[in-house]
Amino acid sequence: MARLRAENISQRLLGAMLVIVLSLLFISVPLIFKSHQNYQHAQLSLTEIQSLRAVAELSNKISRERAPSNKVMSSTPEDYAQNLQELVEYRRGVDQHIQSTILRLKETGFSTEAIEIVTQLQPQLQQGREAVDSYAALPRSQRNMEQLDAAILQMFSAWDASHNVLKNMVIHSQNLDEHTSNYYTLILILADLRDQAGRVASNVIAPVTFKQKMPDTNLARSLQTQHQAHYLWDLVNTVLPEQDKTAEFMQLHDKVRTDFLEQGISTVQHLIQDSLSSRPYGLSGTELTKKIVDKFSSVVNLQTYILDYSLQVAEREKLQAQRQFFLTLFVTTVSLFAALFTMIYARRRVFEPLIQARETILNLSQGSKLEIAETLQHGSGVDSLFTAIRKLESMLQQRDALEFQLKNIANSDALTGVANRLALESYIRHLENQPKKLEKLGLIVIDIDDFKQVNDQYGHMIGDKVIQMVANILKAHVRSTDLIVRYGGDEFLVLLEQMNDVEALSIADQIRRDVDKTNMQVGLAPDLHVSVSAGYAIGGASWLELFHKADQSLFKAKAKGKNAVQG
Ligand code: GH3
Ligand code: MG
Repeated sequence: MARLRAENISQRLLGAMLVIVLSLLFISVPLIFKSHQNYQHAQLSLTEIQSLRAVAELSNKISRERAPSNKVMSSTPEDYAQNLQELVEYRRGVDQHIQSTILRLKETGFSTEAIEIVTQLQPQLQQGREAVDSYAALPRSQRNMEQLDAAILQMFSAWDASHNVLKNMVIHSQNLDEHTSNYYTLILILADLRDQAGRVASNVIAPVTFKQKMPDTNLARSLQTQHQAHYLWDLVNTVLPEQDKTAEFMQLHDKVRTDFLEQGISTVQHLIQDSLSSRPYGLSGTELTKKIVDKFSSVVNLQTYILDYSLQVAEREKLQAQRQFFLTLFVTTVSLFAALFTMIYARRRVFEPLIQARETILNLSQGSKLEIAETLQHGSGVDSLFTAIRKLESMLQQRDALEFQLKNIANSDALTGVANRLALESYIRHLENQPKKLEKLGLIVIDIDDFKQVNDQYGHMIGDKVIQMVANILKAHVRSTDLIVRYGGDEFLVLLEQMNDVEALSIADQIRRDVDKTNMQVGLAPDLHVSVSAGYAIGGASWLELFHKADQSLFKAKAKGKNAVQG
């Protein structure tokens, strides 16, 4: 029963363990999954920004290619060779950048954009370059403003294609959180601003180079570009959240305003004014390119700053997400193991010993001492519990001993240590159920002769000693299975099982003789001598009958003159 209950507890513990582990998994698996998703997302953001940066830089380079192109187209015979050399080198740099960007885009999953570069951008750029080259190849006398302007416009188309790639990347970006998409928009706007800045001058460079009045289309394009630049500038200010406007950003931002919007555009405006007032231009085509090209660098610097900054933010976020993911994984694993360990430990070291201890206590209460000894030997873990059980066991032993003593005290005569009448009564009750035993039961009734006189002559204390000595003689003559009872003051009963007349007479007479010959010298009574008389009987229909017979015999023995035995 106890074992069954212990098994039940064990099973319940196992069930609880399972519930805890499953609950932990239920909570932690989605957490791990979510933080892993965040980590992947952050990683993707970083890759995207890196790719975006490559395309933005490519776009700027293509935009900037117009400067050496313009220089070649508007160069004098003296500086033509040097300018051409510069352009060839610049183009080589752009081509290398195109190849590395295509590779990067392919590696980072932007294969559509990589294809777009090959199918759209490269042919456009090629056409632009061909237009520049064929213009430059013309003899000076055959060149005119329209041809120069057409070549410049063809280069604009190349930039448009690169800007499209950048725009598509932003559109197809999977990185949809607000923070990063602000950077993307800003990068796109700044790329546009950089190009518009270039176009402000490029739109008027052909008439300026040919020192001709600006055609209306050029004027309109230039004004539109200026307007577009101002519009984009306003956008830059609104898109970036306040917290991202660092001191460095503000410094670069102010530089764009002073260098490009104020000085750069006003240079072009002066030229437009020169044309409108039919004055000679204050600058030549080459001078204009030189003067204005530096002004664009402020826009590129701001864009580079934003790219670097967003890259830093993305790297930081990736690191944070990575840390968060590993931390979640670590904490979950640790808590799972801790839970398992605690439960296994609790089961082995606490619950099982407790169940064992409970069984031990149950056994103690049922008194099976053998099992206790075994349990105590194998008892582990909860030592203090077993110490307590050991104490309990020794207390129980003490209690048993006390109980045994109390029982003995209740059933024995205080003076002689032989059984008293209470013990006799329980023996009689036991006999009544066993008539066969009663049949062969021998009873000897022994009474000290003239005991009153002993008391009178020597005192009560000596009388007590005499009673004790007679009791000791009785003890010496009976078997361990026989029962001696102090029935009255100086009267004893001896109950002998499986007895017959001859044996009973023999025992009774031996007792009588022994008392008779024993020297009762005690204390101040050197001449004290006592004798006993005994009556005996064997079996009877009842205890009372047997007792009556033996008592009658004693009476007869006394009547015969005492110190005698009568059957
Ligand atoms: P008889 O030979 O006829 O037996 O004479 P007796 O004097 O022994 O008479 P009886 O047996 O009737 O007297 C018993 C006496 O034993 C009476 C009482 O004073 C004395 N006695 C009873 N119990 C004790 C006891 O515990 N200690 C002592 N010292 N005396 C006791
Ligand atoms: Mg007597």
